[in-house]
Amino acid sequence: MTNLTYEVLQREYEKLRPQLPRFCGCETCRGDVLVFALNRLSPNYVSTPQGEVLVELRLDSDQEKAKLDVALLDAFRRVGLAPRCGARSVQLL
Ligand SMILES: [Zn+2]
Repeated sequence: MTNLTYEVLQREYEKLRPQLPRFCGCETCRGDVLVFALNRLSPNYVSTPQGEVLVELRLDSDQEKAKLDVALLDAFRRVGLAPRCGARSVQLL
């Protein structure tokens, strides 16, 4: 079973991360960003490859993408302000 929201989030993380060079980006911070965003979005569980394609199409709509990016950027901002790994706090956005 896969949570497609998580799959798409990871892809978006890799896309947004280079635009935030001051963000720590270590494994701890990456995990915290993903978990924070994930908890604010609805999961999309699929068990079959066919279902995966359908939900992926839905998640690809602009509206869904926008929701995802908002949650992700907020997560970047919060984790950047208080990184658990001990990196310096940065104001990202
Ligand atoms: Zn870090």
